[in-house]
Amino acid sequence: MNNLSENLDTVSARIKRACEGCGRAPTEVRLLAVSKRHSAERIRLAHSWGQPAFGENTVQEALTKQQQLADLALEWHFIGAIQSNKTRDIAEHFHWAQGVDREKLLLRLSKQRPVTLPPLNICLQVNIDAEPQKAGLLPEQVEPLARLALTLPGIHLRGLMAIPANQAQGGAAEASFRAVKELYDGLRERGIDLDTLSMGMSADMERAIAAGSTMVRVGTDIFGTRP
Ligand SMILES: *Cc1c(COP(=O)(O)O)cnc(C)c1O
Repeated sequence: MNNLSENLDTVSARIKRACEGCGRAPTEVRLLAVSKRHSAERIRLAHSWGQPAFGENTVQEALTKQQQLADLALEWHFIGAIQSNKTRDIAEHFHWAQGVDREKLLLRLSKQRPVTLPPLNICLQVNIDAEPQKAGLLPEQVEPLARLALTLPGIHLRGLMAIPANQAQGGAAEASFRAVKELYDGLRERGIDLDTLSMGMSADMERAIAAGSTMVRVGTDIFGTRP
């Protein structure tokens, strides 16, 4: 699990095979490399093997790495729970925020996004299995917040993000992923322009892709076990 280029090749091959298995084009699914807890040097190496987009879940750790990697054109995604006192850092230093689940966060990110930058790409996080301990909107709360997001400057609503309940055999059930996809399709049918369905991790990316994921967030199977 330490050969980064081999791991990236293996993950890309898994994505390709999963797409072929359900009649989708491999270009429909983006790979987000989740680099949390791994060093800036590992990110630099992954980038040298052609990986452009990285996900982090704590602001301080991400900002430190961004400084160390300032010479590279990387795409940074914030994928953690967002605290409202961190929205300014996220608005100023990331390209995407994927864990948005409250009106207050949307309003702050919109207001705090520097006008000199393109709009911040947003995914609303859905708690699809309604797990009490988990962040995210309940399905019925998504559409009102999506409609609000469309009216705000400085942000660009791209889609939904979900981390469905883990199953005993590893990863989430395909039924949960399908429920997120149905929600996503419903919003699109009702005129909300979305292009990103962020779901699937190391253990369950194939199931997520079969259900319609357009972005898998993979950490362990690229970088190895987190230190
Ligand atoms: C850590 C993390 C991942 C990656 O998980 P792996 O199992 O290491 O692939 C994906 N999404 C989110 C939101 C995470 O926090």
